[in-house]
Amino acid sequence: MKYRLILLFILIISSIEAQLLQNKNNFTKQDTLRGSITPEREWWDLTYYHLDIEVKPELKFISGKNTIQYKVISEPNEFMQIDLQQPMEITKAIQDGKELEVQVEGNANFILIPKKQEIGDIKTIEIYYDGYPREAVRAPWGGGFSWKKDKNGKHFIATSCQGLGASVWWPNKDHMYDEADSMDISVTIPKELMNVSNGRLKNIEEHDKTITTHWTVKNPINNYGVNVNIGDYVNFSEVYDGEKGKLDMDYWVLSYNLDKAKKQFKDAPKMMKAFEHWFGPYPFYEDSFKLVEVPYLGMEHQSSVTYGNQYKNGYLGMDLSDTGWGLKFDFIIIHEAGHEWFANNITNKDIADMWIHEGFTAYSENLFLDYYYGKDASAEYVIGTRKRIQNDRPLIGEYGVNHEGSGDMYYKGANMLHTLRQLVEDDDKWREILRGLNAEFYHQTVTTKQIEDYISQQTKKDLTAFFNQYLRTTQIPTLEYKIENSQLKFRYNNIVDDFDMPIEVEIDGKHEWIFPNSEWKTKPIKGEDFAVDKDFYIYSKKV
Ligand SMILES: [Zn+2]
Repeated sequence: MKYRLILLFILIISSIEAQLLQNKNNFTKQDTLRGSITPEREWWDLTYYHLDIEVKPELKFISGKNTIQYKVISEPNEFMQIDLQQPMEITKAIQDGKELEVQVEGNANFILIPKKQEIGDIKTIEIYYDGYPREAVRAPWGGGFSWKKDKNGKHFIATSCQGLGASVWWPNKDHMYDEADSMDISVTIPKELMNVSNGRLKNIEEHDKTITTHWTVKNPINNYGVNVNIGDYVNFSEVYDGEKGKLDMDYWVLSYNLDKAKKQFKDAPKMMKAFEHWFGPYPFYEDSFKLVEVPYLGMEHQSSVTYGNQYKNGYLGMDLSDTGWGLKFDFIIIHEAGHEWFANNITNKDIADMWIHEGFTAYSENLFLDYYYGKDASAEYVIGTRKRIQNDRPLIGEYGVNHEGSGDMYYKGANMLHTLRQLVEDDDKWREILRGLNAEFYHQTVTTKQIEDYISQQTKKDLTAFFNQYLRTTQIPTLEYKIENSQLKFRYNNIVDDFDMPIEVEIDGKHEWIFPNSEWKTKPIKGEDFAVDKDFYIYSKKV
């Protein structure tokens, strides 16, 4: 009996272990089709989309087509991969007036190109589709369509699809590396509602019972940035005098929230001023800047940043840093708009490098504070967010399978950048680097390596070990020290090879730099008075 129990116990344990092992690398063929630059994607360069759909709120149904224009850049080009997540369905694909064969493999659709296309050719293909798109479970995290009603019982509908992918509601090349250079978005809806998408409103076509809103985007746009927001909207606007000239800033809110919005959205021009200072000109002047109210928290949709922070300061009224500074601004306006520079202007090629979006943008919150309340306030804020770091997984995820790194990409990312600012030790230079990134990688998709190399070149420091430590491990460098016979002894523990980041410390009440590595080093000290500057994200431990 006892033996059997033990055997059962062993069986249970080993089955749990097997499951854990399986979960670790449990990527499917579908993940690879979604997350890698497949041969069926590689041969064509996306140039333009025209998404033209009808949204039927009563049925929670959408139908329409996406016209895709592309340039042929390599051979062979027998199949073209277009992504559309089930239960949505491609009904037909048309090129040069002919219907093409579509082979479906889960969420990937392979369209058979009947005859060879020459390198350099510019072609278009129309993808017709329809269906009941996935309903957002907990937008924006569990994305899809949010079919909500406002307080007056009117339809209040929005899309969100970061991570999940835009192919959850429209057919496209659903990989971050390739962006359409421009886009048109036409949305047909019941007459009593309004739709707000990205870019500028070209015109509204009126039909018997419906209207079609035509929006146009003049700049490269990532797929998850594309959005549809439908509701009983009213609009107000202002012209901002920015670094690149006059910038239209438009605000679309529910009719009954107009007064609240006029007060709360004063953070928007303040944001623009602070971020143009730190990051350079807003990257999409041609498309204007918009804030659009939605029935979920918010998202960085390009040139139509969505807002659902209940017209409160902080994050739904909370201060993420617990220092008080987080209540000085509306978190969603500042954070989501910060993404216009890091996510929409500089975009990760692979979602594994999403820390480029979230790390820099979480860091932008404290630069906003820095601009209006000074350096100490900003440091307190970013250091305050440290307690939210889990160190569960590295910031960089797995490449090629649409896999994000740890949620630590926000606060650990921000604290890594704050630490880097200390190493640069020159705020003008630091600002030049942040602006330089936005100029160097203007409207581009990039890898972590490109960001690392740029910062290393500009700072003239080899930051390889620094980035390896903070981006690719969960280890936090620990400065071990002891004080014996008027000697301070110190070394790093818990570090990657070659990690030797200098840090600022106080010794006998005097501020200085020390240069620890994995070997014990010594320095004279008179008393017991030793402390590491809190601006550096490391641990210290007396041993
Ligand atoms: Zn974000």
